Amino acid sequence: MSLQLDALAFAAHPDDVELSCAGTIIKLAKIGYKTGIVSLTAGEMGTRGTPEIRQKEFEAAGEIMGLSVHKILGVPDSRVQANEENRLKVIKAIRAYTPKIVFAPYWETRHPDHAHCSHLVRESAFFSGLKKIDTGQAPFRPGKVIYYMEMYDFSPSFIVDVSDTFADKIKSIRAYDSQFHNPQNSANEDEETFISSPEFLEFIIHRGEYWGNKIGAKYGEPFLIREPISITDPVALFGEAHLTKFP
Ligand SMILES: [Zn+2]
Repeated sequence: MSLQLDALAFAAHPDDVELSCAGTIIKLAKIGYKTGIVSLTAGEMGTRGTPEIRQKEFEAAGEIMGLSVHKILGVPDSRVQANEENRLKVIKAIRAYTPKIVFAPYWETRHPDHAHCSHLVRESAFFSGLKKIDTGQAPFRPGKVIYYMEMYDFSPSFIVDVSDTFADKIKSIRAYDSQFHNPQNSANEDEETFISSPEFLEFIIHRGEYWGNKIGAKYGEPFLIREPISITDPVALFGEAHLTKFP
């Protein structure tokens, strides 16, 4: 039995998608697409919070994003590697959810787990199509692996206008109350980390504005596709741009 998802985002840790491309994931769900997020790890090496708190936060964020699937694969945190064992876990998830497109973190990134996640998803998306890799499921290969941006920039293949879902993206980030700065909740003020500083959320907002500005929108999220994109009708795709503010 497989569940057909339209879009599935993979992440190394439970809050990675929220911080990077949640605006797009929420937008796709609002259009009516079936969306999912699979986190490789439970984020148990995080400095703040406990696994129980993080699980509740993960579920709350999933509700906000309108996901059809929200799953943790159980790879140990800080030990994400593109090895045989993990490839099989990701292949099983891809075959179970048969997503038309898959999102993965951009391979140049700060956290080693994220870089390994990027390679792991690309390799698994390919191998998932091979019949002789037997998981008891039908072989399936997603239409495209699309990379989302975290700390390090790339020259985007496209930017999604997320002006209408950016507020919900921030809400989904705030669901991870133990991880982020919250002036209303001094009980969670454990040791400060990079992402728990008050400046971090501002940084996320400024990044959204920066990429939105590039396409004449209030907020945007950039994506990278490694292969050239095949287009049959450039007029249909780009022709209406002459009506926009920044053609
Ligand atoms: Zn992470």
